[in-house]
Amino acid sequence: MEENYQIETKCIQSGWKPTKGEPRVLPIYQSTTFKYDTSDQMGRLFDLEEAGYFYTRLQNPTNDAVAAKIADLEGGIAAMLTSSGQAANYFAVFNICEAGDHIVASSSLYGGTFNLLGTTLKKQGISCTFVDPDASEEELSAAFLPNTKAVIAETLSNPSLVVLDIEKFAHVAHAHGVPLIVDNTFATPINCRPFEWGADIVTHSTTKYMDGHAMAVGGCIVDSGNFDWEKYKDKYPGLTQPDESYHGIVYTQKFGKLAYIEKATAQLMRDLGSIPSPMNSFLLNVGLETLHLRVPRHCENAQKVAEYLNAMIKWHG
Ligand SMILES: *Cc1c(COP(=O)(O)O)cnc(C)c1O
Repeated sequence: MEENYQIETKCIQSGWKPTKGEPRVLPIYQSTTFKYDTSDQMGRLFDLEEAGYFYTRLQNPTNDAVAAKIADLEGGIAAMLTSSGQAANYFAVFNICEAGDHIVASSSLYGGTFNLLGTTLKKQGISCTFVDPDASEEELSAAFLPNTKAVIAETLSNPSLVVLDIEKFAHVAHAHGVPLIVDNTFATPINCRPFEWGADIVTHSTTKYMDGHAMAVGGCIVDSGNFDWEKYKDKYPGLTQPDESYHGIVYTQKFGKLAYIEKATAQLMRDLGSIPSPMNSFLLNVGLETLHLRVPRHCENAQKVAEYLNAMIKWHG
């Protein structure tokens, strides 16, 4: 992607790349379906033999352009938009876990995520051990089981604002041969890019700072492409063994580093839905264009509030 652009430029230029005579502004492809001349052409798309658009639940040009922009902002290799942040975190975990598996999660989490991991995933047979984000590496290690498949935590937790030691979590996750998923909603890639500190997968509720105008609920999953699924082949059969529901495709063999996002799209989106509408993705893109201006202002405001409160504490003892 645009390695040499500053993040401010990426906010505006990444994703939609018009060429001669095309609209400067990202178009809203408000279309469920896409036109082809022959059924053979369609067949090749259905079989994932060719890349292309045919049904918006699987892929849509407006959604894909915005996903590509967020992937670029995070320094990832691919991304998928979802209809909400809840769907993003659910898909991020469910893409590599199934009934009988276990995950480790920071106990400082958004309430919705805490319920998803602790209650709803449990009903689907995926158990979760919550750990104190300030625990030592030894204490964190004690939470792992032979069937642990992922670790999940938030960069800045909502609402407690605990700052995650991403390197510590990544180190422990990798020592146990599992990826670290980081929900980067509150920090945004303007303040922190978790891949630079060892995270493997990043999720977002784009509803918050990315949207920025309180107009559209949305989510996103970004893959760094760094986790070696093939190395832990037996642990991640969904990525490394034939998918019977897709003509026996093996995602890691067919898509290489893109396997995780391709599987999430081809399998989870196909079966569970939860896509954003192209209109909402367009609104999200408008928000992203000013992310680099708004986030520093939020930080300045927070600094002023913190200094004010700190002075109050000193004054009143
Ligand atoms: C809001 C939020 C979510 C859930 O996202 P929705 O878009 O409301 O579904 C997940 N994680 C964090 C950190 C959040 O702040």
